[in-house]
Amino acid sequence: MEEIRGKLHSFESCGTVDGPGIRFIVFTQGCPLRCKYCHNPDTWKMRDAKYNRNIPFVMNEIIKYKNFFLNGGGVTVTGGEPLMQPDFVQELFMACNKEGIHTALDTSGYIFNDKVKEVLEYTNLVLLDIKCIDDKEYKELTGVDLEPTLEFAKYLSDIGKPMWIRHVLVPGITDRDDYLERLADFVKELKSVEKVEILPFHKMGEFKWKELGLEYQLDKVESPTVERVENAKNIFRSRGIKI
Ligand code: SF4
Repeated sequence: MEEIRGKLHSFESCGTVDGPGIRFIVFTQGCPLRCKYCHNPDTWKMRDAKYNRNIPFVMNEIIKYKNFFLNGGGVTVTGGEPLMQPDFVQELFMACNKEGIHTALDTSGYIFNDKVKEVLEYTNLVLLDIKCIDDKEYKELTGVDLEPTLEFAKYLSDIGKPMWIRHVLVPGITDRDDYLERLADFVKELKSVEKVEILPFHKMGEFKWKELGLEYQLDKVESPTVERVENAKNIFRSRGIKI
């Protein structure tokens, strides 16, 4: 049988923003979306992968940090879109499970099929990015359809898989009360949402677009104000959703 290897962008040893506790973050290469605010456009193309690593190599890196995971931390796989390499994610999570290490998967939910359902069996927490609740706006923002992501969310709810919903608040695009209310109504019906994270838009990835010779369309967009972030949070709180 061919050895499973991951086409990877990078590792981060002590991440604190992608899931609970202190986490080892694995950034995979490849993404079918083209989000206008993407911080990591250098992960988009699979052929640009910097590393091609097998599971023992990655686990060896992870184990070095095992003591940091004691207070609820663990491993998060993000990207790019990790589910472009489901065999790698599944094998990695199986190895983590054996070591008693918590596993989190950060995904757009765009790739949803039977293989992904298998990966989820070894996933303790899903960080599901719902980038906009409006079909048309979602497509405009990401280049792909919203429907698979909503199906993914409903499946997670049906099987009781813990999830955090993540939503980037972008002035003039996603920061609209009607969108936020529709998103909150959708999330409210999901049974296994532990919390929602509202992530204020920022332009820290803009330089990468320039380096890659890509046109960054949001250069005139500012970060949302504290009031608008609070407004978004309140829309979720008013439906009893933890923020
Ligand atoms: S899903 Fe993530 S990695 Fe892919 S384009 Fe969107 S923000 Fe970038």
